[in-house]
Amino acid sequence: MTADVLVVGASVGGLTTVEALRARGFRGTVQVVGAERHLPYDRPPLSKKVLSGAWGEEQVRLRGQQELEALNAEFLLGRRAVRLDVEAHTVALDDGRTLGYGQLVLATGLMPRTLPGAESLRGVRVLRTLEDCSELRAELLTARNVVVIGAGVLGCEIAATARQMGLHVSLIDPSPVPMLRQTGADVGRLLSMLHAEQGVRMFMSSGITDLTDDKGRVTAVAVDGGGTIPADVVVVTIGCTPATDWLIGSGLNLSNGIVCDERGCAGADVHAVGDVARWANPVTGDGIRLENRTNAVQQARFVAAAITGAHDSYQPFPYFWTDQYDIRMQVYGSLPADADFQLIEGTAESRRFVMLAEKDGQPVGVIGWNSAKAVVAAKNAYLS
Ligand SMILES: Cc1cc2nc3c(=O)[nH]c(=O)nc-3n(C[C@H](O)[C@H](O)[C@H](O)COP(=O)(O)OP(=O)(O)OC[C@H]3O[C@@H](n4cnc5c(N)ncnc54)[C@H](O)[C@@H]3O)c2cc1C
Repeated sequence: MTADVLVVGASVGGLTTVEALRARGFRGTVQVVGAERHLPYDRPPLSKKVLSGAWGEEQVRLRGQQELEALNAEFLLGRRAVRLDVEAHTVALDDGRTLGYGQLVLATGLMPRTLPGAESLRGVRVLRTLEDCSELRAELLTARNVVVIGAGVLGCEIAATARQMGLHVSLIDPSPVPMLRQTGADVGRLLSMLHAEQGVRMFMSSGITDLTDDKGRVTAVAVDGGGTIPADVVVVTIGCTPATDWLIGSGLNLSNGIVCDERGCAGADVHAVGDVARWANPVTGDGIRLENRTNAVQQARFVAAAITGAHDSYQPFPYFWTDQYDIRMQVYGSLPADADFQLIEGTAESRRFVMLAEKDGQPVGVIGWNSAKAVVAAKNAYLS
């Protein structure tokens, strides 16, 4: 069969593309191929409410059965795309089928990086999918000591959740403060204090030298500078890589993601959205790949618009939120580690504030802690 639109990746980017197409009156045939066997679900709660047990798996479903049926799209789930032929306009699947397409939308997201040499050790985990989440949760329920390697957004969230589950948690990162790359040094220091206050053992400016095991099950993590941390579970959160392996040799430009123009076009009749897509900035021309849910939704809507004939371009704008303990943090813009920060609302002590980040005297970002309205106002005032 040849679908008018074939979407590869059945998560928030892929689903939003289909919904936006239908909302724009698109009546053509649509197929969606997804490697996971689940109907589309939301990933942000995995490191928070699902891992803690506050939510069950059914609460992360993005849409109900009826809403999906109303889209009149064929979902081929538990099937992986393995090869793209851009000339023939076909995608081969892992079950031997070949699907034709008029327009192709790639929304394949990311693959978590693993710790070289530790992949086969029991108790060493990553977190990207629902299965990862339920397996990690099952291990945490019987564990005492958890070591999180990597203090980026995901590592910090997992550390917070595990701590709230009553576990002994250690957080290790070569950076001097957590989330340095995403929030800069000042807010990173506040985060470091927050986690330490909550009882997380912080090993900042530290690398790991070894993982110790007993009969194939991890037991400890050795950190450089000496010292060994006992570990029943190790969670590896050292970043992800774009899920583009199957596209190697397809002729698409792959460089830290699928390289696209400012409208998400990656080649003739091929588009890419979400975490896997590196869109050109319409002003600077620079490619930017963002790993957040809001961006996946926005890009999907723009690609749907492009497929149905619109000519707008979209300027991806860095934004993410994170929940850790009782803090909801929202970050707009790109914050270099050497940005200058000033408090423009609230106080750090009250854990309710907005900070403005500047680089060379120019506003480059705003960060809010428990200040949803004020941070949006600051974003509109300084960054628009
Ligand atoms: C634990 C966790 C917590 C997060 N928390 C936040 C948060 O607080 N705030 C925020 O903004 N963002 C958060 N994110 C990021 C957010 O979830 C992503 O930005 C979003 O899911 C991106 O959507 P996507 O559709 O581009 O890709 P994904 O959601 O990664 O989906 C890609 C899908 O494509 C499938 N796929 C891959 N290759 C193939 C193939 N060859 N064939 C078929 N299917 C394939 C994958 O199996 C997957 O189902 C979090 C992510 C994780 C993992």
